[in-house]
Amino acid sequence: MRAKIVAGNWKMNKNLAETGVLLSELKTKLKEAPDAKIIVAPTFTNLYYAFEELKEFDIEVAAQNMHQSENGAFTGEISADMLKSTGVDTVILGHSERRAYFGETDALLEEKVNTALRHDMTVIFCFGEELEDRKAGNHFDLVESQLKNALFKLDADSWKNIILAYEPVWAIGTGETASPEQAQEMHAFIRKTIANAFNAEIAEEVSILYGGSVKPANAKEIFAKPDVDGGLIGGAALDPQSFAAIANSF
Ligand code: PEP
Repeated sequence: MRAKIVAGNWKMNKNLAETGVLLSELKTKLKEAPDAKIIVAPTFTNLYYAFEELKEFDIEVAAQNMHQSENGAFTGEISADMLKSTGVDTVILGHSERRAYFGETDALLEEKVNTALRHDMTVIFCFGEELEDRKAGNHFDLVESQLKNALFKLDADSWKNIILAYEPVWAIGTGETASPEQAQEMHAFIRKTIANAFNAEIAEEVSILYGGSVKPANAKEIFAKPDVDGGLIGGAALDPQSFAAIANSF
């Protein structure tokens, strides 16, 4: 059975002391044996600290980005090996903010995914359409092309290290959520697309998270949809009460 997952993307928020406070609060507020796998993604500078703090808990730590090269003259960048050496073996790739503000293309993301997989990391791969795509009725084509360009040359075995996160850009940080029906419709389409490109077993096994203004008030209804396997949470992940309520809504 595919994994249920709730992941919190902290983005460029929380310094070291604040990270400590948020993690302590999460430890007390999350259920002891959560029904979903819980992941938090603090900034690079706090990853090692978070990993050490959470070692004894059922909370995994992920990075928010990673460079595609093994090492070298890439000032300011972080490699897969560096992440793994801190204990972190999950990375978010393709977030819409990376695509929009840092020019990350499908081709670059394909390289990043391949590098992460070579290091036996798990990738939370984000993708999703802009509002104009949805208004123009292009959202299925756009999502299919994002998946195809970055992931469809993978070998079948690599899919065990892939978590998908469908995040319609118009719903990220806007308070505008896709309805549970819109999320289900797209997630079912994604599963069908993967079944066609690979096989039914891979499509059945891959976890597909929904991301975009998930809050305690809407999480249960969204997560209840059969093809929604959890959420990638932005804003609400910064508040321990809200994140725990979302994580506990399975
Ligand atoms: C995100 O940035 O991945 C996200 C889903 O943000 P928010 O929950 O704030 O919409």
